[in-house]
Amino acid sequence: MSEGIPTAAFQRLREWMVADQLVPRGVKDPRVLRAMEKVPRHLFVDESLQDKAYDDMALPVGESQTISQPYIVAVMTELLELRGGEKVLEIGTGSGYQAAILAELAAEVYTVERIRSLSERAEQTLRYLGYADIHFRVADGTLGWPEAAPFERVLITAGAPEIPEPLAEQLSEGGILVAPVGDRFAQQLIKAKKLQGRLSKEYHTPCVFVPLVGEHGWKDDNR
Ligand code: SAH
Repeated sequence: MSEGIPTAAFQRLREWMVADQLVPRGVKDPRVLRAMEKVPRHLFVDESLQDKAYDDMALPVGESQTISQPYIVAVMTELLELRGGEKVLEIGTGSGYQAAILAELAAEVYTVERIRSLSERAEQTLRYLGYADIHFRVADGTLGWPEAAPFERVLITAGAPEIPEPLAEQLSEGGILVAPVGDRFAQQLIKAKKLQGRLSKEYHTPCVFVPLVGEHGWKDDNR
């Protein structure tokens, strides 16, 4: 993999990414910064895009889907307040990059993707990198993963018209759910905490994600 560009050069690019894109914009959690410095993001994109993997932008990962901008990955992860022992559900595996970041910071990751080819490629990459505590499923993630519920954390990485009810149900008491919610072209990150069975919401950074398509999301992916 990564012919031409030596591993040490990628490590330097990751250090720059953290120093130039994350710290100045207010990402503070040292565990999140360390995970972003460690996970080889260039292995989650096509070889032809590897030299852009640490740039300040989203990149295509095939099937009209994208790997999110590093800053957005860091912000979402920081909002989850992971301490190390949590069981996390991610909706929208995509390239698998966010799942790797979650696996660095939590105990167990369950990740659901609706497009089989993406799920299979992500699983290959994550196995190659040695991540063992990640479970994969090809399904409509708006229905959650009832057999593995409840989850202390839920992260939706596709733009949702609203928080899907099954995901709110599968979040444990005191748990945190983070999701981009809005219309098809622009969303805002929502952090929701489950307190006495109800979600208490905070609104954060504006963002743009590909649509969450499913029973409790958008009905089709016409964009
Ligand atoms: N977390 C990914 C980026 C996600 S892009 C990464 O780190 O690379 C959004 C992904 O959500 C796409 O791959 C898309 O196919 C997937 N998706 C959209 N609707 C979905 C649904 N209902 N269930 C599962 N995955 C879905």
